[in-house]
Amino acid sequence: MDTFFIEFRDPLFSIIVFFAIIFAITFFSYWWGRYKRKEDSRHLDRFLKQFRSLPSKEELKTLIGSGELSEKSWLLLANSYSKNGDYEKSIDIYNEMLRVSSNSNKKETMFLLGKTYFKAGFLERAKQIFLEILKNAPRTPQALHYLLLVYEYMRDYKAALDVLEPLDELNEDITNDKAYLESLALLNNSTLSQDEKTTKILEIYSQTHQLTYLVFEYLFRVDPKLAWENFDNSKSELLTDILWGLNPSHLDLDIISKNSHLKELYSARGDIDEASGSSIFEFDLLIGLKQSSVNATLNFEYICDSCKQTYPFVFHRCSSCHAIDTARVEWSIARDYHKNFSEEKNSFQ
Ligand SMILES: [Zn+2]
Repeated sequence: MDTFFIEFRDPLFSIIVFFAIIFAITFFSYWWGRYKRKEDSRHLDRFLKQFRSLPSKEELKTLIGSGELSEKSWLLLANSYSKNGDYEKSIDIYNEMLRVSSNSNKKETMFLLGKTYFKAGFLERAKQIFLEILKNAPRTPQALHYLLLVYEYMRDYKAALDVLEPLDELNEDITNDKAYLESLALLNNSTLSQDEKTTKILEIYSQTHQLTYLVFEYLFRVDPKLAWENFDNSKSELLTDILWGLNPSHLDLDIISKNSHLKELYSARGDIDEASGSSIFEFDLLIGLKQSSVNATLNFEYICDSCKQTYPFVFHRCSSCHAIDTARVEWSIARDYHKNFSEEKNSFQ
C-alpha cells in the first residue's frame, strides 16, 4: 500500500513540486498576458472613440476657453475641418475663438470665418463678416475680394461693381472683374431688349477681347447670324464645344470653308465633306468612322488653366481659385447615346 504514496523526502516529490510550480507560473503568465491584451485593446478603443465623435459646441466652448491649446492649433484644426467639408464645426471653432477676448488675431480669425461662411453657402453671414472687417480696416484687399465674390454669388452685380473702386485705389488689377461683372449685369438685366444686350456685349468684347466664351455662348444661343458676323477665327478652338452643338441650320459654310479647324470639326460631325483627315486625333477618328455604323461623338470637359481643376460643365469663374475666363475645353470620343435613342425612336414609328 505504501508504494502508492511518495514520501516527503523522496526526490520524486521534489520533481513533482518543481513541475507543479512551473505549471502554475506558466498558467498565471498566460492568463495575465490575455488579461493585459484585453485591457489594452479596451483602452485603445476608448481612446480612439473620442476622435470618432466630434466635440460638441459646449465641449468646444470649454476647450477653447481653458486655453490649453494655442490659437495656432485651433486655427489649424478649424482649417482641417473646413478642408474636409465640415464647415459647421469649423465655424463653431472660429466663433468661439472670437468670443474669447484674449484672441490676438481677431481680424484674421474673422476673415477665415467669413471665408468658411462663403464656402458653406451662408452668403448673408459672409457679407456681414467682411463688411465688419472693412468697417475697422477698409484697406484689406482680401476682404474686398471676398465681398465682391459674395455680391456676385448673390447676383447683386451693382454692389459687386461698387467694390471695384476701393480695390482699384489699392492698386489691385480689376480689369477682368470689371468686364466680367459688367457682362453679367448686362445679361441679367431684364429691362433691356435682346438687341440692346447683344450690341452692348459686343462693345465690351471689342474693348477688352476677354470673356470670348461667355460672349459667344450668348451670341450663338440668341443670334447665330450675328455670332458668325463677329466670329474670331483665332478663337475657334476655344469655342469647339459650342460649335459642335450648333444646330446644322445655323452653320455659316462660307466662314467654315475658310477655317481649317472648323472644316475638320464639321467634317468630323458629318455636316460637310471638306476634310479627309485631321491633326486632332479625335476629329481624325470621327472622319474615318463616318462610313461605318459606329455611333460616336465628342464628350467635353473643362479645365481651369490657373489651378488645373477639372469640371464636367463650363464655368466663367473657377469656383476653386476664383480666376475669370480660365476655362479650357478638352474633348474625347464617346458613344453617341442620343443617336441610338433617335434611331430606336424612329424604328417604333
Ligand atoms: Zn481655377
